[in-house]
Amino acid sequence: MKKVLAFDIDQTLNELTKTPIPLEMGSILTKCLDHFEVCLISGQKFDQFIAQVVDRMPEATPEELSHLHLFVTQGTQYFRFNPKEKQWISVYDNPLTKEQVEKISNALETAAKELGYWEADQLLDGDEIIEDRHAMVAFSALGQKADAHAKHAWDPDHKKRDKIVARAKELAPEFTFEVGGTTTINANTGATKEYGMTHLLEELKVEKSDILYFGDMTQPGGNDYPVVEMGIDTITVRNNEDTSFALKGILGIL
Ligand SMILES: [Mg+2]
Repeated sequence: MKKVLAFDIDQTLNELTKTPIPLEMGSILTKCLDHFEVCLISGQKFDQFIAQVVDRMPEATPEELSHLHLFVTQGTQYFRFNPKEKQWISVYDNPLTKEQVEKISNALETAAKELGYWEADQLLDGDEIIEDRHAMVAFSALGQKADAHAKHAWDPDHKKRDKIVARAKELAPEFTFEVGGTTTINANTGATKEYGMTHLLEELKVEKSDILYFGDMTQPGGNDYPVVEMGIDTITVRNNEDTSFALKGILGIL
C-alpha cells in the first residue's frame, strides 16, 4: 500500500500548461487527502501552485490540506499548510549558493559584454544589471529603475536576449537561462525533479517504495524522467483525464 501520491502539475492535473486544474480534479485530489499524503512537484512558483491547484480544492478542510505538500520550483522550496493558523508555511527554502550566483553572474556579464549588450553606462544611480534574487539570478539589461519606454525599446523582439542566453548557456551549461519581462533574463540551478523528490523522501520520512508518482513526461529527456530513473513507481498519463481515471480506480478500491 502506497503512503504518498505525488503529481506533476502541467498536463498531468490540468489540460493546458499553466491553467487551473478542473474542479472535478480538485475534488478527487481532496478525497485523496483523506487516505494519502499528496505531493505536488513542478517548476512553477508558489503563487502558481495556489492558483492552479489549491484554489481549485474549495471543499478541502484545513485538516485535509495539512496532508498536501507543495514542492515549489522543482522542490527548491517546500510549503505545508498549518491547520491551526490556516495558512501555508515555508518549511525550507534553498537559495542558490554564493558560488552558483557568481558563476551565473559571470556567464551573463561575459555573454552581454562579448555581444556588445552590456549597458552599464545607461544605468541610473545605484542600479544594477545583475541581481541576486535568492533562488534565481536576474539580468535586467538597463537595470531595475530604467523607465518603461526605454525598456520596451531595448529588445522588443527578444533577439538580443536570445543571443545572450545562448552564449551564457555555453559558458555555464549546468544552469537554466530564460528570457522574461521586457529586458530580463532569469537564471537558476536548473534543478530537476530528482532534487525535489530526494527532499520529499527526507521531509516525509518515507521510502521510495511508499510513493506512486503521476507524470506526463516520463520518457527519457522528459521533465518527469528523473523520477523514473530514481526507481520510484510511476504512472505515465497522457493528460488529466488519464490521471482522474487512475485516481478514481485507486479511491474505488479503498
Ligand atoms: Mg507535465
